[in-house]
Amino acid sequence: MENQNYDMIIIGGGPGGLVAALYGARARMNVLLIEKMAPGGQLINTQHVDNYPGFPEGTTGPDLAKKLDEQAKKFGAHLKMGTVKDLNLSGNLKEVMLESGENYTAKGIVVATGASPRELKVPGEQVFTGRGVSYCATCDGAFFKDKEVVVVGGGDSALEEALFLTRFAKKVTLVHRRDQLRGVKYLQEKVFSNEQIEVKLDTVIKEIKGNALVENVLLENVKTQEQQELSCNGVFIYVGVNPNTEFLEGKVNLDDNGYILTDEEMRTNVNGVYAVGDVRQKTLRQVVTAMSDGATAAFDLEKKLTI
Ligand code: NAP
Repeated sequence: MENQNYDMIIIGGGPGGLVAALYGARARMNVLLIEKMAPGGQLINTQHVDNYPGFPEGTTGPDLAKKLDEQAKKFGAHLKMGTVKDLNLSGNLKEVMLESGENYTAKGIVVATGASPRELKVPGEQVFTGRGVSYCATCDGAFFKDKEVVVVGGGDSALEEALFLTRFAKKVTLVHRRDQLRGVKYLQEKVFSNEQIEVKLDTVIKEIKGNALVENVLLENVKTQEQQELSCNGVFIYVGVNPNTEFLEGKVNLDDNGYILTDEEMRTNVNGVYAVGDVRQKTLRQVVTAMSDGATAAFDLEKKLTI
């Protein structure tokens, strides 16, 4: 019968969770990682990662996720598919309840649930999701071969994915609400110098329209209030992310935006409960910083359990 008691249970299998699993298992803790979909977290939706150190030629998100998964398992971490429904964090032995009805206990919990794409919240968005509106260029980009698409947002994700989409779409219009992009300068340079990308600054989408599929968007210039209809087949929305912490409300301290508050060792305010990666309040959300968080949490828990 499957062991129900662990030293460390990690909730979420993005880079932070997978590295916590790797470090924990290598320290010979009994580790269970619970992930509701495929391991990799947001890496799965990232076609090209060009700032992962040690890979000057870049790597793909899914490939990196696969290697991290293999490495954690190689050292003995157990990975399980499931969705956490509830937690009891009050005692020394923490309880993790899954939607499937299975219950597990652990001496330490690492929350690595990451963040999910934010909706734009404009008319037409929900109606056309899956019918031209997408939050994942890696998953859906290939459907837009020789078509015209709009990307919304000015952060790293919007810029990276606009560049990726030029492999398929004949034209990409990047729509951003301010007069300056937020993403890293290197990506900005690549976007501005790409002839397939038109950047519309100071512009917002008022409505996404179509019949069976997306056919156009209504744009508005925020300075002049001038409106314009732009024909397009797809709308890719990259307007930031929300932390996946709904199930933690009232259980650990969160900031006003729902991110988990931790100290430098990734400890939350609850003894034995850690948070790593994009789900915690921090300034730099990257694969490499999530991994570093995961290693730190596993190391701290291992020290705590051996003293
Ligand atoms: P982000 O950095 O928060 O950028 C969100 C963008 O969406 C901003 O430009 C924001 O505009 C815009 N926005 C927000 N709400 C909007 C609304 N209602 N309507 C229109 N536009 C709206 O989010 P992200 O790009 O998803 O990145 C999330 C984190 O992951 C960041 O820390 C990022 O650096 C990191 N990341 C790193 C990499 C990498 O290193 N390779 C790749 C992807 C993401 P304003 O600029 O006006 O606020």
